[in-house]
Amino acid sequence: MNYILYSAENVLLTHVIKCRIDVEAFHAALDMPTCKLCANEAQWYCENDQEYFCQSCDELAHEADDNDNPND
Ligand SMILES: [Zn+2]
Ligand SMILES: [Zn+2]
Repeated sequence: MNYILYSAENVLLTHVIKCRIDVEAFHAALDMPTCKLCANEAQWYCENDQEYFCQSCDELAHEADDNDNPND
């Protein structure tokens, strides 16, 4: 990943806030995360959607942008 850093302080602050939100959301749903679409047991958390997905629904939901890790 490449970033153009105009201000190291701004970048660091944004990163910290984002991490706090993500960690809180993850812990809040740790008990029984369920798929947003079918309510089965979730296996993936999408940071972009801020929703949990099971394996099959994650594939459906991200069918068009699955070229990040094609072998994963
Ligand atoms: Zn599902
Ligand atoms: Zn997504």
